[in-house]
Amino acid sequence: MAALTRLLKPQFSSLLTRSLSTYTSAAPEIDSQSSNSTGPPPPITDDPKGSRSFQWVFLGCPGVGKGTYASRLFDLLGVPHIATGDLVREELSSSGPLSPQLEEVVNQGKLVSDEIIFNLLSKRLEAGESRGESGFILDGFPRTIRQAEILDEVTEIDLVVNLKLREDVLIEKCLGRRVCSQCGKGFNVASIDAKAENGLPGMNMPPLLPPPHCASKLVTRADDTEPVVIERLRVYKEKSQPVEGYYRKQGKLLEFDLPGGIPESWPKLLEALNLEDYHHHTNSAAA
Ligand SMILES: [Zn+2]
Repeated sequence: MAALTRLLKPQFSSLLTRSLSTYTSAAPEIDSQSSNSTGPPPPITDDPKGSRSFQWVFLGCPGVGKGTYASRLFDLLGVPHIATGDLVREELSSSGPLSPQLEEVVNQGKLVSDEIIFNLLSKRLEAGESRGESGFILDGFPRTIRQAEILDEVTEIDLVVNLKLREDVLIEKCLGRRVCSQCGKGFNVASIDAKAENGLPGMNMPPLLPPPHCASKLVTRADDTEPVVIERLRVYKEKSQPVEGYYRKQGKLLEFDLPGGIPESWPKLLEALNLEDYHHHTNSAAA
């Protein structure tokens, strides 16, 4: 069994005061009770909720719904959704120690360096560790093999979920995106009714309309035009393939074709993630 590492690997969190038992792979008292199913037993954690480990990465092109499914998983598992874009924005708005450096990069329209991203990410994982978080869902990261390699040095990734959606539907969905200019919430005005064709599944996705107080304040993001969306998809596919290959080789990649909107996709995703029971237990416990 691989060494048990929660959030940061020890050398990256040596400054933290923490119980060393979190990091030992022995844990014999838990070891004996966690093999009630076929296949590889789930990794052992000290998570009081169960014996699963949730150090996950979500891959998928912009607009596929990574944030939506990650936030639903947060509700289910309590595992935070960490989007590197948000980390950059938070550091800038909170005038954190890296914000002068970041401001310069952003003002010059450059890409934020791997070094800054890893600094922010390590800081975020340390904070999570001290709050007792039992994992994370990374979104928007890693984007390159190099980043994936560094990530492997910083922490241990248990599973990489590659979310995929029929491309014409994805484009339509991206073009339907709207943001409320007042509260910043996202909506979608696209009403998708794609017929099954050429082996592709039919899909019906109703729009996600805003409440009345947002309806008059909707704006379309400047980069949600058709040529930009199509180019973004092309670039994403080209760049993501090596990263997908990297995790496929490690045996950690779970390919997941979204069968439609949230109502169809969510139960299937839970099934693919082996979380149906989790779902059920949470529900019956709440009932
Ligand atoms: Zn609003």
